[in-house]
Amino acid sequence: MKFGTKAIHAGVEPDPSTGAIMTPIYQTSTYVQSSPGKHKGYEYSRTHNPTRSALQNSIATLENGKHGLCFSSGLAAIDVVIKMLRPGDEVISTNDLYGGSYRLFMKVFANYGIKFHFISMEDVNNIEKYINENTSLIWVETPSNPMMNIIDIAGASKIARKHSVLLAVDNTFSTPYLQTPLDLGADIVMHSVTKYIAGHSDVVMGALVMNDDILHEKLSFLQNACGGVPGPQDCFLVLRGIKTLHIRMQRHCENGRKVAEHLKQHPKVSKVYWPGFESHPNHNIAKKQMRDFGGMISFTMKDDRLENAISVLEKFKYFVLAESLGGVESLCGHPASMTHASIPKVEREKAGLLESLIRLSVGIEDVEDLIADIDQAL
Ligand SMILES: *Cc1c(COP(=O)(O)O)cnc(C)c1O
Repeated sequence: MKFGTKAIHAGVEPDPSTGAIMTPIYQTSTYVQSSPGKHKGYEYSRTHNPTRSALQNSIATLENGKHGLCFSSGLAAIDVVIKMLRPGDEVISTNDLYGGSYRLFMKVFANYGIKFHFISMEDVNNIEKYINENTSLIWVETPSNPMMNIIDIAGASKIARKHSVLLAVDNTFSTPYLQTPLDLGADIVMHSVTKYIAGHSDVVMGALVMNDDILHEKLSFLQNACGGVPGPQDCFLVLRGIKTLHIRMQRHCENGRKVAEHLKQHPKVSKVYWPGFESHPNHNIAKKQMRDFGGMISFTMKDDRLENAISVLEKFKYFVLAESLGGVESLCGHPASMTHASIPKVEREKAGLLESLIRLSVGIEDVEDLIADIDQAL
């Protein structure tokens, strides 16, 4: 089955009791048993819910995986992955990382005796230098946020296999439309479903996908034991969003390319970060592991003063200033004062994250309007 067909059909069956084509919202906490322990596979909705089961199957199929698990947020999904570890275990993570993941690792799990290394992985061989007998997980985010660095997933997976370490990939920016990390050797794929998969800026949710049965058993035990599950209404909204994932992504990519190319030749812009440019340092890896390059773009301006960035952000009409990404509407953000404000300025600027850096999540509006908006704002 090709991707668009999967997006529409995978994991969902007409409702067995009525034939309803759309999976109903099973808004129920419990299920009646005819005799103690005699039930139809559903006992309590933290453990199983039919609307959530349909969504879990759908996301698993999109990622070419065997098992899917959904959570109340992307961070709740990451939370159970780290809860498989024990005090003394070590995690090697990308340094250019979603701020909330960094906060969860350092402000929560570091207190429980888990050690995190944040390293540059643009050359995956760098990972090997940090592996020791306590290493149990490699955490990769590609493309990264907001610098759009690309990490070689197949290369990272070879190193993970060699040392019997798990490899998890945060696939939020790419979605399975662009990249399927399990096919490249990753053990776990993680999503903030909140972003492109749900796609309409109306749900907060997370997901994990894996092939290995034992890994699935451990993670689904934690899903039930810790309890960070999504409700059936949200699962329904995401099932609905997924039906247009391929069409939305196609347009995000088309618009992303045009906006990136327009920014690149704009006299007020100094640098554009987008993996589709041949000049991007890891363009060849992006080309190898991604089917297209997506709608996430960052750029800096020749006038690098904070006031200039603020004035441009205030002038945008269609690119609305907000946290988040991946919805149908275009968004803009200012990492230095929003998502990455907690990182000291010198550290930020070492990584290229200047005061004038603006991050765009290019939506699926008509691109002529988006380009006109950029021009008037700049
Ligand atoms: C938003 C995001 C998360 C966290 O997901 P929530 O759904 O907000 O909890 C994790 N990783 C990336 C790359 C994200 O963009």
